Amino acid sequence: MTTAIEQTLETYGIENWGAGYFGINRKGNLIVHPSESEGRSADLKEIIEDLHRRGISTPVLLRFPQLVAAQVRKLQRAFRNSIREYEYQGAHMCVYPMKVNQNRAVVEEYLREGSRYDFGLEAGSKAELYGALAFDQAPDSLLVLNGFKDEEFIELAYGGARSGKRVVIVIEKLSELDSILRIAERFEEGDVLPMVGIRVKLYSKGSGRWEKSGGEAAKFGLTTTEILEVIRRLHEADRISMLRLLHFHIGSQLTDIKRIKNAMKEAARVYAKIYQMKIPIDLLDVGGGMAVDYDGSKTAFDSSANYTAQEFANDVVYTIKQVCDDENVPHPTIIQESGRYLSAYHAILVTNVLDEVETVVEDITPIEISEDDPTVVVELGDLRETISVKNYREYYHDALEHRDELFTLFNLGLISLEDRAKGEVLFWDVCERADKYAQQSEYVSEEFTELRRLLRAKYLTNFSVFRSVPDHWAIDQLFPIVPIHRLNKPPTEYATLCDITCDSDGVVDKFVDLHDVKQVLELHSLTKDEPYYIAFMMVGAYQEVMGNNHNLFGAPNEAHIHIDEDGYLIKKVVRGTTIGEALERARYDRSQLHDGFRRQVALRVKRGDMTEAEGARIVEYYESRIDAYTYLSVNGDVSTTKRRRD
Ligand SMILES: *Cc1c(COP(=O)(O)O)cnc(C)c1O
Repeated sequence: MTTAIEQTLETYGIENWGAGYFGINRKGNLIVHPSESEGRSADLKEIIEDLHRRGISTPVLLRFPQLVAAQVRKLQRAFRNSIREYEYQGAHMCVYPMKVNQNRAVVEEYLREGSRYDFGLEAGSKAELYGALAFDQAPDSLLVLNGFKDEEFIELAYGGARSGKRVVIVIEKLSELDSILRIAERFEEGDVLPMVGIRVKLYSKGSGRWEKSGGEAAKFGLTTTEILEVIRRLHEADRISMLRLLHFHIGSQLTDIKRIKNAMKEAARVYAKIYQMKIPIDLLDVGGGMAVDYDGSKTAFDSSANYTAQEFANDVVYTIKQVCDDENVPHPTIIQESGRYLSAYHAILVTNVLDEVETVVEDITPIEISEDDPTVVVELGDLRETISVKNYREYYHDALEHRDELFTLFNLGLISLEDRAKGEVLFWDVCERADKYAQQSEYVSEEFTELRRLLRAKYLTNFSVFRSVPDHWAIDQLFPIVPIHRLNKPPTEYATLCDITCDSDGVVDKFVDLHDVKQVLELHSLTKDEPYYIAFMMVGAYQEVMGNNHNLFGAPNEAHIHIDEDGYLIKKVVRGTTIGEALERARYDRSQLHDGFRRQVALRVKRGDMTEAEGARIVEYYESRIDAYTYLSVNGDVSTTKRRRD
């Protein structure tokens, strides 16, 4: 017998995509484990209620840094196993690409765990490099610099190398080499300088959304002739010993293992050929791209991956070994730049559903049909009374015709607004009944699948798609969405989610499914005066950094959670953007805002449109809101009271 909890686990696919980090407890609440298959857990509903008591309301981004550490261990373990199994002679090291999530807590946790395995950092811009240079890294770990670089970037890289970091400047464009060599002239023989890497443009392409990142037409990387030119110039400047690394990256969320293998083969071959030119190259950087299985389907679908970490590691290690053995060159140290894989799981956005948006007309007062009603209304009334499992298809078609007639008559001025309202209610009643009968039948035809979509509930949810799951809007990326409570009861509604921006794109209407993409999500019915919380899972990679300020909805509140034997510990709370801060980003300033509003009120008071006391009250309220949260607050919500300054 399956219990209700087992059923909801399956409805939401938690065990398919959860990687062992998530589950449901006896209370029916969603829980997080600090590492796969570990007993300790934290109850998300308890955390949200606890935060509420501290004046932190939803939406709130919950960070579980332990999940970053757990992913680091998983990745390291996978490569350690492969290296042992294939008797690979080189080592494996990771450099975390900061662009995936530069948040300090994320990088710190990564380095805390990763330093045990000589994991380092990757920076793709001057600002990221600037941030990276301030972290303590393990002495043997690398700091790899990708992306287009100007002289200032390279100067900063030299500063990093001189300060003791093992910096690798990866050349993306030939002109970068000029700066590297120019600055190198300032140093003596034997001085510690940055290492140089080359990004190669591979013929092989990745798969999935980022296919364009690889292949001949890619934006990045050097062609074969350019690589030879770099080598020539390094020789000429007597700096060939700087060249230590070959790099490639064929895209993010690589869904198909076959493509990865092909790229690996090609890159390993290029590496071997360079080595054979008597160049002391010893690092092969295979880029990032390890995919996260967001929908749990284990397929080459865009939001999934058809391989495990172990399979990925096996293919990388085995392929490089094969090619190097074939070419008779030593096995390089494998550098990997996995970002998404390490950071996706650790962050969860929890927010509240505010209400239901009515799409279909609802019975506000019960409908009475009388003799005097227009024929079309009377006929719709008849359909409603006599629809059954035997005739629902035909009656539904009749209802569609009557609805057209209703609007024609209304537009011709032949029926009243009341008649139209009555007709609409009756029409939707017929639809709901037809839907009920259709769903009972064995085969649901397309028109009734469409009707179901039309009849689904729309849940107005307190968040901005553009801020918190921008990839859902931009590239149709799917994220698992689960209520954090009531999971011991089966969901009864089918719904899509609308966010609170004034943008019709601010919706979530595609959901993860094992075999397909769901058009509606199973959710519970809303109960009055009781919050309904849902969680957007696995939003730790790219979402925060790509999120924007559409409608001036700012960063959500944030809490860092540590899980231990006694449950959870809220280690840190970071307030989300306030109204004042959001406006400052659009170049408003506080005193100008306050002066502006006060001036207008003063004018009204002067004209006698308003008493001085009322004017003062309005101004006071206006000014007090400057530190309020940009998201909606629910009645009696803590955020409606004046916020404390932290
Ligand atoms: C973005 C990027 C990565 C990270 O890719 P993931 O898919 O997050 O692992 C690694 N290397 C380079 C050069 C990148 O541009």
